[in-house]
Amino acid sequence: MTDQNRPHRFATRAIHAGAAPDPATGARVQPIYFTNGFVFDSTEQAADIFAGRRTGFSYSRGSNPTVAALERRIADLEGAKAGVAVSSGQSAMQLVLMTLMKSGDAYVASPRLFGGSLGLMRRLDGRYDLKPRFARGMAPEDFEAAITPDCRAIFCESIVNPCASVVDLDGIAAVARRHNLPLVVDNTLASPALIRPIEHGADIVWHSTSKFLSGSGQTIGGVICDAGRFDWEKAGGYNLITEPWPDYDGLVLTKAFPETPFAAACRFFGLRDLGPGLSPMNAFLTLMGIETLPLRMERHCANARAVAAFLKDHPAVDWVSYPMLPGQPGEDLARRYTPNGPGSIFTFALKGGERAALTFIAALELISHLVNIGEIKSLAIHPSSTTHRQLPEHEKAAAQVGPETVRLSIGLEDEADLIADLTQALDRLG
Ligand SMILES: *Cc1c(COP(=O)(O)O)cnc(C)c1O
Repeated sequence: MTDQNRPHRFATRAIHAGAAPDPATGARVQPIYFTNGFVFDSTEQAADIFAGRRTGFSYSRGSNPTVAALERRIADLEGAKAGVAVSSGQSAMQLVLMTLMKSGDAYVASPRLFGGSLGLMRRLDGRYDLKPRFARGMAPEDFEAAITPDCRAIFCESIVNPCASVVDLDGIAAVARRHNLPLVVDNTLASPALIRPIEHGADIVWHSTSKFLSGSGQTIGGVICDAGRFDWEKAGGYNLITEPWPDYDGLVLTKAFPETPFAAACRFFGLRDLGPGLSPMNAFLTLMGIETLPLRMERHCANARAVAAFLKDHPAVDWVSYPMLPGQPGEDLARRYTPNGPGSIFTFALKGGERAALTFIAALELISHLVNIGEIKSLAIHPSSTTHRQLPEHEKAAAQVGPETVRLSIGLEDEADLIADLTQALDRLG
């Protein structure tokens, strides 16, 4: 292959993939198409789009050109064949669960997940009978042992929120393949700059784009990526994907969209029927954020490594959960999957317990007390009284969230200023 034909590298694709100069005006930046509807060329085209016989823009609930540019860019960065953007990370997870499964189906879930994911899983179990079967631990064998005949998927995060554990995606993907199940990965804490789960065998990757992808904490969104290689017909049990849709003249998604039938199902059922589409404005802001993702992630990782090392040596600190520090549990996996560091979200515990944790957070000046993560500014929160508040004690324990635990999301400020702020706040603990 000549050098000219070589696919562009990641940093180039973060800036260029999925968006070109606007053919109508020459605008270099992706235009924001604030329109609900798109004029049809003909009555035949309108009918074909509605029947799913051809793709095209008709109504922005289902697709919009600005949103489509974002979908193409994230799919490209993840190595997926298609992306579907939605209004939040929670919507992304809901659409994945409800598109893959019907009432009575089950799935294997990682025992360590973002609190909001656990909450959604519990509610969809109680009200709609979609049953999570939690693995007992994080090893691939634990996921395998949790599989039951009614399981339709395996769910995990690539890097766990909030404890920064790096998950053995290759091992879990091998289990998924052995049992003919799609592996679904929440890649929010890694972003495709650190881990691309499809390269490790994942079939579906989803994100909260509210975090590292948009980058500045200015907009909420989500995206679902379809690797386009799972054999739904062979595995069986996915009626939305492999069986005719009577109200669409018997449309079968695996026949009409053989490359990406899962993404098509998310669009037809998830966006057209359920309706949690992304606003073009939010898609635009997220696209702008992604252009600097590779640069930002380098700095996020470097700052987080410095802060974690500082905290580990501080006398007021009991432990730090940041697997790249020498001797930490999970260090091997972190070195293998994230040689530059497992992102910038991690937890640590104060020897003085809950009172020390709350005093410390209140004393921070530069670092904001905020529930968000993965943005340019450094943030801190007390998970057991906020993000993990609704979880039962055993789930808090699985997430390593105790009353003494603080979660940090380290931003892009100067490292010395961050450490100075942490030092003055720790000094207040006496
Ligand atoms: C924030 C987050 C979500 C939910 O995303 P929203 O955009 O806030 O709805 C899901 N998974 C992880 C790992 C998250 O950090």
